[in-house]
Amino acid sequence: MLVVMQAHATEEQVRAVCKKIESLGYRAHPMPGEQRTAVGITGNAGVVEPGTLDEMPGVAELIRVSKPYKLVSRDVKPDNTVITFPGSDATIGGKNLAIMAGPCGVETREQAFAAAERVHRAGAQFFRGGAYKPRTSPYTFQGLGEEGLKILADIRSLFGLRIITEAIDNESLELVEAYADIIQIGARNMQNYSLLKRAGRARKPVMLKRGLSATLDEFLMAAEYIMSEGNYNVILCERGIRTFTDHTRNTLDLSIVPAVQKRSHLPILVDPSHGTGKRHKVIPLSRAAIAVGADGLLVEVHCDPDHALSDGAQSLYPDQLDELMAQVRQIAPVVGRSVVEAPAPISAITQ
Ligand code: PEP
Ligand code: MN
Repeated sequence: MLVVMQAHATEEQVRAVCKKIESLGYRAHPMPGEQRTAVGITGNAGVVEPGTLDEMPGVAELIRVSKPYKLVSRDVKPDNTVITFPGSDATIGGKNLAIMAGPCGVETREQAFAAAERVHRAGAQFFRGGAYKPRTSPYTFQGLGEEGLKILADIRSLFGLRIITEAIDNESLELVEAYADIIQIGARNMQNYSLLKRAGRARKPVMLKRGLSATLDEFLMAAEYIMSEGNYNVILCERGIRTFTDHTRNTLDLSIVPAVQKRSHLPILVDPSHGTGKRHKVIPLSRAAIAVGADGLLVEVHCDPDHALSDGAQSLYPDQLDELMAQVRQIAPVVGRSVVEAPAPISAITQ
């Protein structure tokens, strides 16, 4: 059920509606929009008993939401969600594209700072790097843990880059929430519902990567789990799915971008690094992702990919990141988007 408020409804009237919903034993999710505020209702086992909600001041109408996902849906919030960050002009989901780049994993302070210096110089506003790595083999590099998070936080202080890094369980999520700007939930955890609920109680935006075999509905329902706990700052990320094709690591499903945008107000990014697994495919598919309307990119970059502890084969050389940014800057205006100007360089030596 969705309570649509009148365009001129006051904040007090919205608050009163929320209070009424809670008194009926449900959960209220106010979603302010450009035209009007809607209040989503969740926590109902069956049909919501609306009581006298429709007679309350400021209420325009009550709408039954038939789709399984509610808070994720454009029915609830017609305007795109734009995520902002305190102390930064970086946004996700607005006119500017969100470019996130960095190594697969934080390996050493020197390695991470060297990559960050190039990411910053290229004009990306977000730095990625895993401190907790969900690896296929338990015998490969698992990440530096909290030490890696501290390195990432120092990178934010020096370069002003917003930090995105993965949480793999409730324990790491608590630390990632404390140190980072965006909590990444990886493909393997897309259906880890207890982790999704914990992320929904976090105070930082969450980027949810599509599971290896997730349908569109399963992907959106996973996002619904996060939002149902009250965290509405969710970013989706297409990172390739398993198919019979073996010339790439995964098959990047770019058609999900317009499919998501039709159904949901949430921003969607594309990860052409995990989506292809091969360095030479990353720039072409980045161009395609921007052309298809993605809100940004998540790209792996390493200064010495031959010696990377994970995902070297799909990591761009820093010069290639410059090339990618130059191409993205040219394509962006064609689809009504822009990329912020690259800032003055800061030397990594000053760390
Ligand atoms: C990553 O981004 O480092 C990662 C592990 O990606 P995914 O969860 O998509 O495999
Ligand atoms: Mn990786």
